[in-house]
Amino acid sequence: MKNEVAIVGGGPVGLRLASMLKKKGIPATIFEASSLLGGQMTTLYPEKKMEYPEEFKGQKALDAVNSLIEEAKTQNIRLSTRVLDFSPYEDGFMLKTNQGEEFFSYIVIATGIGLSKPRTMGLKGEDDVNNIFYSVKDPHIFHKKTVAVMGGGNSALDWAKQLTSIASKIYLIHRRNEFRGDVKDLNQYPVKVITPFIPISLTKEGHQVTSLTLEKVDTKEKIILDHLDAVLVFYGRTSEKTPFLLPEPRTPFFQGYMHKKNQESIPGVYVAGDASFKDRSEKRLEPGFKEAEIIVEDICKKRKL
Ligand SMILES: Cc1cc2nc3c(=O)[nH]c(=O)nc-3n(C[C@H](O)[C@H](O)[C@H](O)COP(=O)(O)OP(=O)(O)OC[C@H]3O[C@@H](n4cnc5c(N)ncnc54)[C@H](O)[C@@H]3O)c2cc1C
Repeated sequence: MKNEVAIVGGGPVGLRLASMLKKKGIPATIFEASSLLGGQMTTLYPEKKMEYPEEFKGQKALDAVNSLIEEAKTQNIRLSTRVLDFSPYEDGFMLKTNQGEEFFSYIVIATGIGLSKPRTMGLKGEDDVNNIFYSVKDPHIFHKKTVAVMGGGNSALDWAKQLTSIASKIYLIHRRNEFRGDVKDLNQYPVKVITPFIPISLTKEGHQVTSLTLEKVDTKEKIILDHLDAVLVFYGRTSEKTPFLLPEPRTPFFQGYMHKKNQESIPGVYVAGDASFKDRSEKRLEPGFKEAEIIVEDICKKRKL
């Protein structure tokens, strides 16, 4: 079947678009840079109860996003495929991804707040080791290990506590004496709390961190945590903007999208969801879903011409 619509971004808005296009019998391909669908709902707040829109109110974000994934999954989905650029080609567009080039008649940019990545410690050599983790998929890999947990929010506190039943030793390192997360029962767990310290360097053997040097924030006193088997970093996430520029101001049907190279409006290229909103208060599912409706209508109209 001819490639028709490329949806760049597999967040809730890209997913809704894909299922709406499916209902109209229009084949679409979702390109998602990360290995998971669902955008912010999956990466930033899977356990949170949705406040709006009405259709998801009170549901856990992960459940809500799973229903969007279910509806979209009859369309073509490409995970771990980052769209790098596109350019007008014949009567459509050539889309360039980290996997190659493909032709599409229409493009919808639904890249949201961009690519969300875990915030690192920023230490030299940090990206060259395989025992620093930024999320926990299988806690049992820490069985009988010595683990340093970095951070002061709920993720750091929850994992420090939970891992005490699996690991042999847990350190919890935070740059302040006060924690952002819920700390009230922390002293009931065998966690060695080290505050107010920040990591300043690491030593490694091969591709394994074996020790961290910590510096006390106020006095600059240094201590070394050695014999480490793993480091778990919970410093939150950062967003990396996609390489596209967005229109200023937004235009009806979001067709005034500017391409970063030629800076001109391109009919057939749409923007939907958080990617098209400047004002934070608009960053919600509902306005993105409304745009999806408008875009689908417009594509249907164009196909009939
Ligand atoms: C803590 C929190 C709570 C929230 N609670 C609510 C709520 O209760 N109700 C509500 O309506 N809204 C809520 N929101 C806002 C809502 O999550 C966003 O409005 C929504 O996720 C926007 O969806 P999106 O599809 O536009 O973008 P995103 O969810 O940001 O998804 C964009 C996707 O595009 C991918 N991507 C980016 N660049 C590329 C590229 N170049 N190539 C391929 N893929 C790419 C990203 O990896 C991501 O998966 C909340 C937001 C936060 C942070």
